[in-house]
This record gives sequence, structure tokens and C-alpha cells, in this order.
Amino acid sequence: MESRTFILKHALPVARVERYWKGLEEGKIYGTRCRSCGANFYPPQADCSFCYSSDMEWVEVAGEGVVECFTRIQRPPQGFEFASGGYTIAVARFGGFKVMGWFRGEGLPEVGMKVKAKTGRDESGVWKVYFTPL
Ligand SMILES: [Zn+2]
Repeated sequence: MESRTFILKHALPVARVERYWKGLEEGKIYGTRCRSCGANFYPPQADCSFCYSSDMEWVEVAGEGVVECFTRIQRPPQGFEFASGGYTIAVARFGGFKVMGWFRGEGLPEVGMKVKAKTGRDESGVWKVYFTPL
């Protein structure tokens, strides 16, 4: 079967959530919280999708997380060729925030597993969130 390669590039407006990306470089993970209704957002949003307020505050997400779900990617998509052996993405709850990160532990995580989040660059130089078991 003949195939074609499509390269997609997305330009995302990040000016109002730039602190998130700066935070990753400083080893910190930030979400946002709506001062109007209290909704939490991760990844951070500059506007509340519940009450439409733009009165948001930055909240550092830290401490102990609990894995809620995960998936194993066996065939990395374009741009993730450095992970040719596959990789595992998990979602862990840190208080009121659900954070997605790359799992760095032995084997697969388990739902309910306690993890710590750290930031770091992947092999292509992009900052990411990594989880390690506690
Ligand atoms: Zn709100």
C-alpha cells in the first residue's frame, strides 16, 4: 500500500499562558483557577470555560499525585521518533488539578499509584511533565 506523509504544524496563541511554559523551565507546574467560580484548569486557560470570566489566578501544582488513568503508545507519532520503543502517558490528580505527564517508572503505572511530578526536556528539547512513582 502506498502512503503519503503529511506534516501538520499548529500555531497556538500562548501569550496569556506563557507562565506555564516558563514554569516548566523552572521546574514548576502551573494551572489556572477562576477567581469568579473556582474552576481549575490544567493545562492552564486564560479564560474560564464555565463562567466566561477572564479573572484567573496562577496556581502551582505540586506534591503527591494519584494516577487516574494511563495509556501506552507503542508507535510514536510524528515528532516523537526519539521514543521509538514506545512511551506511557498518565493522568494524575493533584488536588483539584488533573495533570497529564510521561510516566517514568518500571513497567506500567497502576490506577491509584502515587506519583511525583517533575519537569524536564525530552530528547527533542521540548519541556514536559514526567511522573515517577513514590
Ligand atoms: Zn469561572
